[in-house]
Amino acid sequence: MGDCLFCKIVDGEIPSEILYEDERVLAFKDVNPQAPVHILVIPKEHIESMNDIDESNSHVIGDIFAIMRGLAEELGIEKDGYRVVNNCGRFGGQSVSHIHFHLLGGRQLSWPPG
Ligand code: AMP
Repeated sequence: MGDCLFCKIVDGEIPSEILYEDERVLAFKDVNPQAPVHILVIPKEHIESMNDIDESNSHVIGDIFAIMRGLAEELGIEKDGYRVVNNCGRFGGQSVSHIHFHLLGGRQLSWPPG
């Protein structure tokens, strides 16, 4: 996807602080962190949003959750707790059209979100 910011991060065209990488998944620090720990975890394949998840690609989403669970432990936030967020579409507040999961932790998070 020529114009996709996160595809460019996957390709190394745009630098990022990578915390985890395998053939199908990349995790990197959010450039504008909203908590002491704020990681974005994405499939390398360009999937636009939650609306594009189906049986053909849902197993990478399962992998992403297992990876986030490992990152939470690695980053020392698993005991106090953390939050996983996916913003979908305009009303969901999605600003980058490549599906991503925010892993947020390291402080008390409030609820409900705005
Ligand atoms: P969302 O609003 O859910 O689409 O989340 C997009 C996230 O991408 C925001 O939290 C941004 O701070 C983050 N972001 C935008 N550009 C970059 C970048 N170059 N490197 C890391 N994170 C980024």
